Amino acid sequence: MSPSISIRDIKYLPGVGPHRAEILEKELGIRSFKDLLYHFPYKYVDRSRIYRVREIDGSMPYIQLKGQILSFETFGEGRQRRLVAHFSDGTGVADLVWFQGLKFVTGKYKCHEEYIVFGRPTVFGGRVNIAHPDIDPADGVTLSSMGLRPYYNTTEKMKRMNISSSAIEKLVTNLFVAIGEDTPEETLSQAIISAHGLMPLMEALRNVHFPKNPELLRKAQYRLKFEELFYIQLNILRFSRERRNRFGGIVFSKVGEYFNTFYSEFLPFSLTGAQKRVVREMRRDMGSGRQMNRLLQGDVGSGKTLVALLAMLIALDNGCQACMMAPTEILAAQHYETLTRFLDGMDVRVELLTGSVKGKKRETILKDLLSGEVHILIGTHAVIEDTVEFASLGLVIIDEQHRFGVEQRARLWAKNKTLPHVLVMTATPIPRTLAMTLYGDLDVSIIDELPPGRKPVTTVHRFDSMRASMYEFVRNQIRMGRQAYIVYPLIQESEKMDIKNLEDGYATICEVFPEYKVSKVHGKMKPAEKDEEMRRFAQCETQILVATTVIEVGVNVPNASVMVIENAERFGLSQLHQLRGRVGRGADQSYCILMTGYKLSEDTRKRIQIMVDTNDGFEIAEADLKLRGPGDIEGTQQSGVAFDLKIANLARDGQLLQYVREIAEKIIDEDPTASKPENAVIWKQLAEIRKKNVDWSAIS
Ligand code: ADP
Ligand code: MG
Repeated sequence: MSPSISIRDIKYLPGVGPHRAEILEKELGIRSFKDLLYHFPYKYVDRSRIYRVREIDGSMPYIQLKGQILSFETFGEGRQRRLVAHFSDGTGVADLVWFQGLKFVTGKYKCHEEYIVFGRPTVFGGRVNIAHPDIDPADGVTLSSMGLRPYYNTTEKMKRMNISSSAIEKLVTNLFVAIGEDTPEETLSQAIISAHGLMPLMEALRNVHFPKNPELLRKAQYRLKFEELFYIQLNILRFSRERRNRFGGIVFSKVGEYFNTFYSEFLPFSLTGAQKRVVREMRRDMGSGRQMNRLLQGDVGSGKTLVALLAMLIALDNGCQACMMAPTEILAAQHYETLTRFLDGMDVRVELLTGSVKGKKRETILKDLLSGEVHILIGTHAVIEDTVEFASLGLVIIDEQHRFGVEQRARLWAKNKTLPHVLVMTATPIPRTLAMTLYGDLDVSIIDELPPGRKPVTTVHRFDSMRASMYEFVRNQIRMGRQAYIVYPLIQESEKMDIKNLEDGYATICEVFPEYKVSKVHGKMKPAEKDEEMRRFAQCETQILVATTVIEVGVNVPNASVMVIENAERFGLSQLHQLRGRVGRGADQSYCILMTGYKLSEDTRKRIQIMVDTNDGFEIAEADLKLRGPGDIEGTQQSGVAFDLKIANLARDGQLLQYVREIAEKIIDEDPTASKPENAVIWKQLAEIRKKNVDWSAIS
């Protein structure tokens, strides 16, 4: 018996050999027979229909014609040389054109023989052209047998080595022959297959490569997507069940002095409906005896910090400490200030611990944390250093979670015997489908309501040539007592260049606005310097803040009413949205001005248009997911989740994802010990997947 296809080396497949095997591995990661079997086409072209030359117009995708070559003709010299075959089907003449491989073509194809020609037509001056068509002899080809033709991804390098899509198509044909009876085992249980009317695995694999018709293709794709998403969900859900069973949560049974006093005597405004709802959701979690694992999503300025504070007070009421982590020193310091201001007059000790808190001060904080005298600790990731120990840490709040890696979060869990409750806050809304995949077991709360009196930010797009009028606009706003941000992009290839960019911008702004004071902030400044510049701007000692994206998250200066983003084309959607969120924090009308050059790609144009059209962070997140695909969504790279989905697409298959999640949940509920024989196939497959995957348990 031959070895299983998952370990059969691709070089033994007829048509491959050691040289091609090397390229397939390097370029596409294909090592085994199975890898090739799972290298799916990215599109299909209908080859069941023959068009007539007379019918062709310039807007058609790939088509095929049947007819004869009347004559060959060459034009031009040297690199301009091209070969034209005049091809006729009796209804008209099409020109088949080659720029390369001229000799090969004239050697292979003969005049006055029947061919089927396949390619993408263009119409030029009334003549139909098809460049580099595929040509097959017409005899022996039955149209229905050609069905839908698969197209496979290849790379430039592969094309140069003559491994085109049709070469891969041939390899896959050989593959099915080579596999013969040695087909891969079914990966879903019979019960699931029949309950959901799925195509069996091998049939699906055959049809996804060589679909007989669109209906069978659709069924094959559905089956394979189903399987892919099902195992992702099963994996996450099972891990989170295991974790839940292993660790209980601290029970916060009561709401007491701290919470009630603050709520009735210190809270300067009433909570929005959404804030109240989230507080209820958190109380339910934290009282349940299970660890709270909640993702709090809310647009910038929606009042997440206050909600976090209320949760911390509940922790204090139950004899526990709370800790809040921010991604940068600026943000940590700002949270510290906000919280101390809110809590002014209450008997709560809040401390700030960052990398720059050193010596005696640090020692005192550490000692008082251990004795329980410090109630709330605010910090950067410095708080998860091993030297930081709590008397009883009951709640951890992570702000802007996507900057914290999985590993960092996991280290926090290790700090206590019982797991602290966890609230992860983010202003970069993650579309629901993605949140489910990334954070399987994280419950999601949403603040979808802004505090009263906010006006949506007006966003406009301006080209560089309109810079003068933009400056005028900014000047007018400052005259009215407002302040402005001007942001330059980070171009990561070169730190030096970034600074230069910013310095040039700063010099220009100082020149254009000689009557005003200008602050400057960038990531390479010393924290103390940076803080000083921020402070001057926050207290309105300077009117303009020139900055890189360090001000992206959290910075709060309600008097600022203009956000100018230079080279807006260089920013992603969620970043633009974050930046825009720095204004519109007061009661006045605010503006966001996106500056770009004239040359914009289609995608950039769309991004800018979305920004102009909507202020809704969720809409923007969904659009981002569609435009960029999930692999590029901010945060997913750092999250540690490998997004090598082979066939499903999180942007398009959200409904299916939801559907299979419910199926996975049901299986786990009905078979918690993974021992029912009818599910044996499923658990075996899950074990296979886990063998090669990341440690999902650390993610939520
Ligand atoms: P986020 O962290 O979600 O971006 P913040 O918590 O910083 O938002 O809140 C933004 C501003 O709105 C802060 O100045 C905060 O004090 C204020 N705020 C929060 N909740 C309310 C509310 N219910 N009513 C009025 N103002 C609020
Ligand atoms: Mg905030």
